[in-house]
Amino acid sequence: MMEFDDVSQLGESDAALTVLRRVFGFGSFRGDQAAVIDHVLQGGDAMVLMPTGGGKSLCFQIPALLRPGLGVVISPLIALMRDQVIALRQLGVAAAALHSNLAPGEAGEVIRQVDEGVLNLLYVSPERLLTAHTLEWLMRKPVSLLAVDEAHCVSQWGHDFRMEYLGLGVLKDHFPGVPRLALTATADPPTRMEIIKQLRLGNARVFVGGFDRPNIRYRITIKDQPHEQLLAFLRAEHVGDAGIVYRLSRKSVEESAAWLVKRGIKALPYHAGLDGNLRQLHQDRFLKEEGIVIVATIAFGMGIDKPDVRFVAHLDLPKSIEAYYQETGRAGRDGLPANAFLTYGMEDVVILRRFIENSPAEDAFRRVEHHKLELLLGLCESVSCRRAVLLRHLGETYDPPCDNCDTCLEPVPTWDGTDAARKALSCIFRTGENFGVLYLVDVLRGQETDRVKNNNHHKLNVFGMGREMSVVQWRSVFRQLVAMGLANVDVTGFGGLRLAEKCRPVLRGEMSVRFRVDPLVVPAERKERKSQAIAPFTSATDLALWEVLKSTRRYLAQEQQVPPYVIFGDATLREMVESRPANLKEMERIYGVGSRKLERYGEIFLRVLQTGKPFAGFDAPI
Ligand code: ADP
Ligand code: ZN
Repeated sequence: MMEFDDVSQLGESDAALTVLRRVFGFGSFRGDQAAVIDHVLQGGDAMVLMPTGGGKSLCFQIPALLRPGLGVVISPLIALMRDQVIALRQLGVAAAALHSNLAPGEAGEVIRQVDEGVLNLLYVSPERLLTAHTLEWLMRKPVSLLAVDEAHCVSQWGHDFRMEYLGLGVLKDHFPGVPRLALTATADPPTRMEIIKQLRLGNARVFVGGFDRPNIRYRITIKDQPHEQLLAFLRAEHVGDAGIVYRLSRKSVEESAAWLVKRGIKALPYHAGLDGNLRQLHQDRFLKEEGIVIVATIAFGMGIDKPDVRFVAHLDLPKSIEAYYQETGRAGRDGLPANAFLTYGMEDVVILRRFIENSPAEDAFRRVEHHKLELLLGLCESVSCRRAVLLRHLGETYDPPCDNCDTCLEPVPTWDGTDAARKALSCIFRTGENFGVLYLVDVLRGQETDRVKNNNHHKLNVFGMGREMSVVQWRSVFRQLVAMGLANVDVTGFGGLRLAEKCRPVLRGEMSVRFRVDPLVVPAERKERKSQAIAPFTSATDLALWEVLKSTRRYLAQEQQVPPYVIFGDATLREMVESRPANLKEMERIYGVGSRKLERYGEIFLRVLQTGKPFAGFDAPI
């Protein structure tokens, strides 16, 4: 157990800062961290909303280290608990996890450690904590605080609902006077209210951190050949990087992973249909090896704490802006530049709408889902700053431009589409509001297909009215009409288009329409685009040193069976290359080098820096 006798004389804020520097090796607090920690140290309850990567864990870890007794952390996923425990132990913090997946011996050992009072932090699953046996046992221990991580799991409307979370309100009665925290990255106000109600945190102080993730660059493009688009993106900016590729279905996950592997990318599939062991293996490899690209359905993600995920690519549309924000938020937790890349097409919209229609939920719920999808389309088709749209949706104001999203970096070309919009809308109307996009485009372009002739649509005056534009251009027009809310897709049937009330002024010629020039339709002259790849080292010596530092990290990680980033993160190794610490004193000043890591790895990394050779055990010849 860590002792901080010498800091206990310090004021609370100073003590917290000392622990931040000494244990974690960080120079200063971020955002609301210091305020939350102070508040909890004074015994208050807190509700903490911070974006992914914002640093929620320190908000309970540091008070747990400073307050006497055991900090109890409730976490929904075993993987999440395991990762945090591994990382804490690397820092010299006595932490352990208690959940249903432990061997009987292991659980016994954790229980013994709690009984002996040698633990600082105990991670526990909600179902385990809420058994009468465990509750009664813990109530007799000196508990310093209770933290409910991923607190949005109490929300029945959310995507991560966990039944067991609903029972956590009882902690208020069982641990009177013990400060309780709820932490989440989900920002929307209804979820926030629900967390407070379910967890009975009426007296908690609410800390709302800014939700901007400035290091993530957002980029959204039309889906044309998604695999080729992805490969071009990976080759341009992410050679050898770890990342996540999201797909909508299990089948497309398998296809994309296989396709990437054939092109030499280290890609692994992950979805709920895979055998449990294989799925676990792929997740472990993603965490422990470097440069793995995981291709996954949304079953993958929550509880992935890996800080050096350099990109998140969606080859299909996510469900909502919240989902997009959550999923892209898994990139760049370490604060280094990262990319969010999305390709989307009309097919996605049709599939998602059918999903929603076929879901067994109530009508009201389905309406909400449709609404959310519309809003997401609005983000995709937006001609202004993505970040501003995203943050506005999360209830924050943001002054564009951000200079780190596609629309800010390359002003979006638009064109006057009033005439095209009227033709497209008339075509929907004249054919009886019953047909999908491909058919409508055939009519507009004057294609005498059997189907068109059988329906007598070659006799309509809209037939052949749109010969001047290509199929691809027309599809873009229809998609944008839907995104603008001028037309609706009938999702219960075969994706037929209908007119929306809002389109009347356009049909009457009273309203003009501007479309986004589809980048795949008119390959506009591109400005040289600044890459979001992390700047490579310019000197060969630095590059070589970076490689040997990484291989040293890999060696140490393999030796202990832990992910490389828990030894040292990329930002730490980069700083070593840049500032070349020559002794332990200088090493201690490097970002992410706390006292325990200095003790364990300081000499090793100094030796690597001096010799330029990777470390492979103390007996290995230099
Ligand atoms: P969250 O749980 O909010 O997603 P984490 O607690 O996992 O975020 O923190 C994200 C990353 O930021 C981690 O790698 C963590 O070590 C780092 N971090 C957190 N607080 C600080 C800080 N004050 N200074 C530097 N790095 C920090
Ligand atoms: Zn922007």
